[in-house]
Amino acid sequence: MRNSTVAAIATATGVGAIGVVRVTGDAAIEIADKVFVRGKSGVEKKKLSDLKGNEMSYGRIVAGERVVDDAMAAVYCAPHSYTGEDMVEFFCHGNDRILREVLKVLVSAGAEYAGPGEFTKRAFLNGKLSLSQAEAVMEIIAAKGEAEMDAARNRLDGMLGKAAEKICDELVGLCAHFAAWSDYPEEDVEELSEGVMGETLRRAEKELEILAKGYNTGKILASGVSCAIAGKPNAGKSTLMNAIMRDECSIVTSAAGTTRDVVEAEAVVGGVRIKFADTAGIREASDEVERIGVERAKKRVAQSDIVVAVFDGSSKTDESDAEILELIKGRNSIAAINKIDLGLSADITAVKEAAGRVVFISAATGEGMEELESAICDAAGLLDYDKNAPLIANERQFDCIRRAAVGVRDAISALEMGVTLDAVEVCVESAVDALYDFSGRNVREDVVNEVFSRFCVGK
Ligand code: GDP
Repeated sequence: MRNSTVAAIATATGVGAIGVVRVTGDAAIEIADKVFVRGKSGVEKKKLSDLKGNEMSYGRIVAGERVVDDAMAAVYCAPHSYTGEDMVEFFCHGNDRILREVLKVLVSAGAEYAGPGEFTKRAFLNGKLSLSQAEAVMEIIAAKGEAEMDAARNRLDGMLGKAAEKICDELVGLCAHFAAWSDYPEEDVEELSEGVMGETLRRAEKELEILAKGYNTGKILASGVSCAIAGKPNAGKSTLMNAIMRDECSIVTSAAGTTRDVVEAEAVVGGVRIKFADTAGIREASDEVERIGVERAKKRVAQSDIVVAVFDGSSKTDESDAEILELIKGRNSIAAINKIDLGLSADITAVKEAAGRVVFISAATGEGMEELESAICDAAGLLDYDKNAPLIANERQFDCIRRAAVGVRDAISALEMGVTLDAVEVCVESAVDALYDFSGRNVREDVVNEVFSRFCVGK
């Protein structure tokens, strides 16, 4: 059966030097030839189908007599393309109107509109990518921080898939041995000793545990860390927030109690995406609006992964500071002793006791900002993690690894209890099944559709 041919705009909307429209499927080159005239003068006789693949040609995209745009056409022949199918990409001028018209011309010539993630879905279905690699494509597109990007890059390179595959291969080896031994008794297959089985299973258990643990870091990298900036009015929270963002995103004023609500902004700190929230100054509120602001600030402090508690180091600490210390007790926090450019007048003994980390900064001059940023990464648990380790990035992957670990653990228990090998085999098989789900080898269609529905059209 012929595979349907689909087309989509692959680049983001807006004005750009170049915009790309791509078409993939069995009839991709044939359809592209209907709308593309090679050569400058438009009289060249050669067609795109004359190209060998992985080649480009200059020409014009036409709608009947009308020239829609001049473009470069890149031709890829199956299986040597992103999707594994015949594919053509048109590099046009980056104007949405032109790109939409090119897409329309391709559809008139026989292509269908591609759905979200359809190109990557086809790459997956054609065995060009595993499911975790396909997910990494979207993660790379969405990544903001360098560390997040590196982790997604590792997954796209297949590091996570290979780690899971290695475990899977060992377990499949066990299953194969069980099957050969029980199904072909006449073949004199060597019986697996309990020691060898136990060793293989315990190794798999340990490796699965390492993968599962990586989800903590992977999740933080993928979704970012929430960080509340809290402190009494005038401590310098907004100035600090602005210094981190390096632009004026919250109002800075010397009148106390200005930031009455929570102001949010994202920044990449030490390669990690941090979602900052500048909160209202915490103190005994003088009116209803301020009281609501203070309540929201406290709530945000309670909900955040990390708290940066800002203290004015240039003046004596008071009961508002004491209230903040109460709030951060036992929390993953950093005390930022601010206005250090004015000298230290505050007694920070209690601050040192309450906060996990203390840094001295001047949000106004930038002094100590690097120390603060590395303290934030440290609090996020991302200062010294192994950047080359394969990290699980989403709930689907985590669930597969978790199920595999349950299967392996059950197999170990069954072995230790001395039950029949059949029972051990069933547990190992369920672990293998979970790992097949992980790579997408036997994953259900609705799961595949769910994964790719999160993609953008054209990817
Ligand atoms: P917030 O109420 O905690 O958000 O405090 P702001 O950021 O609005 O700062 C209050 C006042 O302190 C402003 O006049 C700032 O310019 C000043 N300020 C903030 N940080 C520093 C600092 O590091 N050094 C000095 N000298 N002044 C600062």
